[in-house]
Amino acid sequence: MITIANVTNINEAYLVKSRLEAEGINTFIPDENTSQIQPVWNSAIGGVRIQVANDDVEDAKLVLKDYYQQQQQIVTPACPSCGSHNTARDFSTHNWAKAIVVMLGIPLPFKNQLLCRDCGHKWQEKSS
Ligand SMILES: [Zn+2]
Repeated sequence: MITIANVTNINEAYLVKSRLEAEGINTFIPDENTSQIQPVWNSAIGGVRIQVANDDVEDAKLVLKDYYQQQQQIVTPACPSCGSHNTARDFSTHNWAKAIVVMLGIPLPFKNQLLCRDCGHKWQEKSS
């Protein structure tokens, strides 16, 4: 067995495990019992490890990549220009303006600027 992921708690480990097993990859959580009985030990033993058979490592890595990308989508919206989810909130543009606003105590409606890391497109996040 090879460790392919190291997560912070048993709940996340189960999420990853169910995702991998949905793809037909058998997983093993060697710290499962310890993590359930003594959650505080997780940090002492270096997180909760998720292991797969040697033959499944490459497949498991692809599934994990997909899994983490989906987790990211929850945080950052897709680029309206190219559809990439490799986006980030770009706070740098308005920092000086925000500082002035805070100093003067004027509440102005600043929208979050978003930046696409793939194509460089910038846009304003719509407030929901
Ligand atoms: Zn883009």
